[in-house]
Amino acid sequence: MRPEILFALFTDIKTLPGIGAKTRFLYEKLAGTRLIDLIYHLPSACIDRRAMPSIMDMKDGIVATSIVQIEEHIPPARPRDKNSPFKVRCYNETGFLTLVFFRAYPDYLKKQLPIGEKRAISGKVERFGGEVQIAHPDYIEPVSRLKDIQKIEPVYPLTAGLGQKNLRKSLTAALDKTPNLPEWIDPFFMKRNNWQSWKKSLLKAHNPETDAEIESSPAKNRLAYDELLASQLALKIVRKHVSHVKGRSIKGGGDLRQKLLEKLPFKLTNGQEEVIKQIHADQESEERMMRLLQGDVGSGKTVVALFSALNAVEAGKQAAIMAPTEILAGQHYKWISEITDEIGINIGYLVGSIKGKQRAQLLEQLENGEIDLLIGTHALFQDKVIFKNLGLAIIDEQHRFGVNQRLSLANKGQNIDMLLMTATPIPRTLTLAMYGDMEVSLLKDKPAGRKEINTKVLPASKIDPILDGIGRVIEKGQKTYWICPLVEESELIDLAAAENRYNEFRRVFGHNKVGLVHGKMPTNERQEVMLKFRDGEIDLLVATTVIEVGVDVKDATVIVIEHAERFGLSQLHQLRGRVGRNDMNSSCILLYHALGEIAKERLTIMRESNDGFYLAEEDLRLRGGGEVLGTKQSGLPNFKIANLTEHFDLLKAANDDSKLIMQTDPDLQTTRGKALRTLLYLFEYDSQMKYLKVG
Ligand code: ADP
Ligand code: MG
Repeated sequence: MRPEILFALFTDIKTLPGIGAKTRFLYEKLAGTRLIDLIYHLPSACIDRRAMPSIMDMKDGIVATSIVQIEEHIPPARPRDKNSPFKVRCYNETGFLTLVFFRAYPDYLKKQLPIGEKRAISGKVERFGGEVQIAHPDYIEPVSRLKDIQKIEPVYPLTAGLGQKNLRKSLTAALDKTPNLPEWIDPFFMKRNNWQSWKKSLLKAHNPETDAEIESSPAKNRLAYDELLASQLALKIVRKHVSHVKGRSIKGGGDLRQKLLEKLPFKLTNGQEEVIKQIHADQESEERMMRLLQGDVGSGKTVVALFSALNAVEAGKQAAIMAPTEILAGQHYKWISEITDEIGINIGYLVGSIKGKQRAQLLEQLENGEIDLLIGTHALFQDKVIFKNLGLAIIDEQHRFGVNQRLSLANKGQNIDMLLMTATPIPRTLTLAMYGDMEVSLLKDKPAGRKEINTKVLPASKIDPILDGIGRVIEKGQKTYWICPLVEESELIDLAAAENRYNEFRRVFGHNKVGLVHGKMPTNERQEVMLKFRDGEIDLLVATTVIEVGVDVKDATVIVIEHAERFGLSQLHQLRGRVGRNDMNSSCILLYHALGEIAKERLTIMRESNDGFYLAEEDLRLRGGGEVLGTKQSGLPNFKIANLTEHFDLLKAANDDSKLIMQTDPDLQTTRGKALRTLLYLFEYDSQMKYLKVG
């Protein structure tokens, strides 16, 4: 149960003065409907109104405060024209200042700014020719209130219909109701970082004194740390709970794996052997395996998955491999059933298109344990799919699945081992943020004989010579991908662009030599074209970015990516990985139309590196965490303040800190432990609390 000290923060904002039913929905749109949502809505800038320059010295664009005498009201030159302003001429001993009002109510202005009187004014200065103007001053006050204006004001992100002043007022009220909370951060760590209490830091973050403080300050760092610590601790609590289940040790006799080794047409790379060893050790350990296998496209993850699955099967368990598309699942099924042909295991294949009797029979065999290894798509985690004894679940291209989808497969058995695989390396920061200290294996070396892909960056105007090149590639019997990305707002326009290319290329290379795949096509048609490409009926494949991940077309040696400037590094690298899957020379041509600074940097990095891990780190640096993975799908926590690029060191510290806490005070019973409980509730990890002993 949420501790009492937090009750005030979780009350509805309509209890604040000035927020009624009418405005509440604006706040809801902006931040949320509870005080806690509001107090974490931090300023994005600040305005310094302390300066009182002489009017003559007021530069265009500055914010100035001034005391002026009102001299004259000048009604709009063209009364009916909304662009013709009402002007109020003012002066003091340093010069003349004109206040400008569009769509003004003259009576109101006459009352606010009576001729002959003095007023304190503050606002943004504009210069038009010789005239110094302030349009719609932020403040028009009696001179006696000058001191109230002359301060540094926070500026908050807004939503249409809600004004700065109203928001500030509600925030002040909310912060007034905000309690002091017990300290959950280690005192030495606080001191080393020069941090203050939670409440003081929060107040400070709402009252920045410079723009630099908006970017970064001890107060904001502390608030970010709170958030990171809470999420790391929550991950560890769950992890401890789910992994400490005894009697899950899986160790096969090795006969199936021995047979597989003998049948493999290649020798395992050192990297593969290493990773397989790590996985076997995890499987044998009593704790539940949670391992992420990262390996570039083509690094040979499938065979690693197969060895892990066979280990489970030898030990009398079932295994499952889930892939995000039918093509991929089909490819795995084909390769695995061929290679294990005489080994003696039963493999099932379950995808959406398998229906009726066939499906029913498969499900029955699965439930009675006749099937040792099930390969398929999302179909695998549906309710009707019941395993007799699932011991290992492998998820390929794991980032294509949502967190809940991954979990529902995990729930098909009791504390089954999980192996997640991805060809999009996840930067270390993000793995930490998403999984806490989940084990990570890297497949760094590529199977022998692979050549580097030669990457070129060219302007779109170079298309003709590129087409000549493709002609020569086709003559050699090799294949080419041509990627037309989603660029326009409208999918139809993109589709038209891809179709234009398709028609153009059919004229150049022959009508039956070119294929087209795009997202609007039914899956089976798309697969048909992909397979024609793989099997050599088609030499040139035009595709929007929907081409399936991981599809193995061995003799594709060229990939051209149009509008490469619009892609992130990881995505470009993924696309590039479609070629170079053999011992021939391959190339990737990045075509650009317009090139900004960051895009230029990105393409240069692409040209210089073939290392997916390095590219992932760079992608994070250039784009930020949420963008790299897509927050919703990835399971990446949606932080309010913490930023994974900026606060990586804090994230590491939070990881270490939470590890230590779990060792010394796993049920959060000490004084600090109790404060940490408050922290967890503050960030709404309520559901994780049930794993702690009552305290
Ligand atoms: P990933 O899924 O990591 O992108 P795959 O598992 O699809 O890569 O492997 C890519 C290709 O490399 C496949 O054709 C596979 O058979 C082959 N391969 C895997 N391991 C080796 C190896 N050690 N030596 C040679 N070829 C390999
Ligand atoms: Mg793969």
